[in-house]
Amino acid sequence: MQRRKVTFKLDPNAAQLARREAWTRLHCELYNAALEERIDAWRKAGKSISYYEQQNALPQIKADWPEFVELGSHALQQTLRRLDLAFQAFFRRVKAGQTPGFPRFKSAKRFSGFAYPDPAGWKLMQHGGRGATLRIGSGEAALSIRARGRHRFGPDAKPNDITLTRRNGQWLVSVTLRVPDAACARRRTADLRRGVDFGVTDWATFDDGQTLANPRWLREELPHLAALQRERARRRKGSLRFKRLGRRIARLHERIGNVRRDFVHKETTRMVQQCAVLATEQLAPKTMSRSAKGTVEAPGRRVRQKAGLNREMLSAAFGMAHQMLAYKAEEAGTRLHLSNTRQLKPSQRCSACWEIVPKTSAQRVHGCPHCGHVMPRDQNSALVVLIDANTPGTGVAARPKPLPRQRGKSKSVTRETPATTPCV
Ligand SMILES: [Zn+2]
Repeated sequence: MQRRKVTFKLDPNAAQLARREAWTRLHCELYNAALEERIDAWRKAGKSISYYEQQNALPQIKADWPEFVELGSHALQQTLRRLDLAFQAFFRRVKAGQTPGFPRFKSAKRFSGFAYPDPAGWKLMQHGGRGATLRIGSGEAALSIRARGRHRFGPDAKPNDITLTRRNGQWLVSVTLRVPDAACARRRTADLRRGVDFGVTDWATFDDGQTLANPRWLREELPHLAALQRERARRRKGSLRFKRLGRRIARLHERIGNVRRDFVHKETTRMVQQCAVLATEQLAPKTMSRSAKGTVEAPGRRVRQKAGLNREMLSAAFGMAHQMLAYKAEEAGTRLHLSNTRQLKPSQRCSACWEIVPKTSAQRVHGCPHCGHVMPRDQNSALVVLIDANTPGTGVAARPKPLPRQRGKSKSVTRETPATTPCV
């Protein structure tokens, strides 16, 4: 059994939408009340309240306010767990010497949604075509909402838990499926061995010199985005026009994200389908894209340039590509080799004589003073990691991270294929 996440777009009618909003408001009220209880208990008695104490109070809450009953007890518990996680994260960061913000009260408008942590209280039925029906609640209170999308795992995939979220006025349901191993498998069409170097100039360069151009989604949309942001800055904050522009900006961001995810999905799928061995270097986008700002005492250099490079790097979504490669390679039986970047230094090493040839990131051509080997810089890197992959005992195990268990995470790792993302 494997766990996979898929997302469906919901198509509620007006009445269903109103009910969904009302349920979200109740979940939000519960969250805020539970937060207040914790704060009060601490202020008045110096006592901290645990998740279980709050969970045990739920039956009484349902007796006093019957409108909570139709929300389902497990969904209510899940919202309390979400608060508990916020506190755990807060204390963990305090302990680590960081300065986190205290868990906040949330307004119903900004409350993202709610979740059912197990198969109780809802049902998802996939039809033949691209449609599905999501049924939440039970008896007369049940809602049957049309959903758009389809997953590729067949009838043996069993939905395990769902999270309903609202994003840019659009309701989505994210489903965790329990899928038999066989239903996850991908067919491979070839047994190539390829090295690939991800970069900003070209999104990907292979060891044979082939390249995949960087679509530069963000770069193309940036002037448009900036214009909208400038226009919004001229409006009075909180005014109708200000809000309207905010929504347009959010939608543009979303569209850029959708196009990017779609591109990365398609290209990574093609890579694992063609390859028996796929080599690339390990990636640390968090440190790579660290701001060059520095501190007041030691200000960094070339901060703006680094910010531009960071934007390009994050926009090119290498982290996303690596995540997708990891699980898709496993599904296709492809060996994904991740070279140890620090030891190997693929961009500095000569693929012909293995000597280190230092160069700056502006130098696009590798010219070796030791053996005279000349090659485009990125192709040389791709070749170096491919040679490394052919050497036993090097590299890092490339195993996909397991999906987190559904425990009130507001954001979870999604593992999706294009066929399952109808919102693209
Ligand atoms: Zn050389």
